[in-house]
Amino acid sequence: MQEIKFYSGENIPLELHKVRIVQKLNLVPVERRMEALYEGGFNTFKLSTRDVFLDMLTDSGTNAMSDNQVSAMLRADDAYAGSQSFERLQKAVEDVLDKKYLLPVHQGRAAENILSEAYVQKGSIIPMNYHFTTAMAHITLRGGQIAELLYDEAYVINSDHPFKGNMNLEKLEEVIQSYGPENVPFIRMEASTNLIGGQPFSMQNLRDVRAIADKYGLLLVLDASLMGENAYLIIQREEEFKNSDMATVVKLMTGLSDICYFSARKLSCSRGGGICTNNTDVYKKLQVFVPLYEGFLTYGGMSIREVEAMAVGLYEVWDETIVSQSPIFIKYLVDSLDAKGVPMVKPAGVLGAHVDAMQICSHIPQNQYPAGALAAAFFLISGVRGMERGTLSNQRDENGVEPLANMELLRLAVPRRVFTLSQLKYVEDRMAWLYQNRHLIGGLRFIEEPPVLRFFMGKLEPTSDWPQKLMAKFKEDFGDSL
Ligand SMILES: *Cc1c(COP(=O)(O)O)cnc(C)c1O
Repeated sequence: MQEIKFYSGENIPLELHKVRIVQKLNLVPVERRMEALYEGGFNTFKLSTRDVFLDMLTDSGTNAMSDNQVSAMLRADDAYAGSQSFERLQKAVEDVLDKKYLLPVHQGRAAENILSEAYVQKGSIIPMNYHFTTAMAHITLRGGQIAELLYDEAYVINSDHPFKGNMNLEKLEEVIQSYGPENVPFIRMEASTNLIGGQPFSMQNLRDVRAIADKYGLLLVLDASLMGENAYLIIQREEEFKNSDMATVVKLMTGLSDICYFSARKLSCSRGGGICTNNTDVYKKLQVFVPLYEGFLTYGGMSIREVEAMAVGLYEVWDETIVSQSPIFIKYLVDSLDAKGVPMVKPAGVLGAHVDAMQICSHIPQNQYPAGALAAAFFLISGVRGMERGTLSNQRDENGVEPLANMELLRLAVPRRVFTLSQLKYVEDRMAWLYQNRHLIGGLRFIEEPPVLRFFMGKLEPTSDWPQKLMAKFKEDFGDSL
């Protein structure tokens, strides 16, 4: 894609779309933000958007749809069975993802539920580049285990490695051999590995994983939720593909997998999700679970309008201008915060900018959730809502022991085509201020801890009066500004 240069030399990202429907935002006073934190148990999932200025919690289901998507929603052919809208979606899956069978599901984790139900049992081990929270929860719920097999460089925060999401091939073979291929129902590769900062894998790595899967006769499952951006970064960073287009790279990626599943809340900027394959046996095995858990095979728990939006959104994955917008904005935010000394996960990945709470809050022990504390502190001083991705997002093991995360990150999601550059500049400004005042941030402890996916609904409290001290400093520096 051609870069657009500014005569001034200030090469800032340029929005290649115009805004035609807007939603008013509220920036509520810092005192109200403090109350909201206490009401929501210092958990950003429990805040109301009424109190949130920029919602950078997630990119799941929060992306801007195109005019073509919205107009397609109006011609939705509502039918329980045999909807023409579903036929259009199937055609899109065939054209874009090159898979002839599609099982529709209501969102990404529903695909994980069905795959785990079909393939995972006690004693199973699923090798993967890295876990995703819901993928892991579904596997462990069935008594399976995961093996995370990244290279060491994936955990280096300040790195220039282009493909930190690569699977460690030596470790993959070791795991398969030591547990036995019969206990490995599938290998899972996650495009743009979410929890390590949205970091891509290379095509060569995926090819190498495919070769190992073939050697041991194993299925390769691709989590394609963030595949559009992974494909874009392959074009940017992998020599062999620098002149390739999105359509080609996406097809090569899906072609290397036996099963490809995705959250359409990300891929295709709509809602819903899907599991697709060219393998008839796989299709038949998984098919029975769709009417059981999701809905009939031609809507899978989605509204038919979403089915139409998804079909159009899948074709838009071919457009590098559309797919690159979010990664380019993320790179801008990461590079500008990095220039101000804020420790950021580098290189910039996809889905959001990731702030290294382990360094910023090095004075907070990991069992007091430094990334969760940073998320709460940042909301307090800015109204910007991010998400903890660290120990708080982990689940306790079978003995109730809390595993400390390899990384403590505050993720500031940049939903696709939602925010403007001045809004990102506000984020940059407030985060730079918080970094200067980081010593004022303190820890958190649980007051209500759910047994599964505790980060969603758990309630916490600060371990001291640090939020009050932080607010006092904010008021000192910002006066009566919001
Ligand atoms: C978001 C996400 C999922 C889950 O998708 P939902 O639609 O939110 O359930 C699974 N895998 C990856 C890599 C994701 O980013």
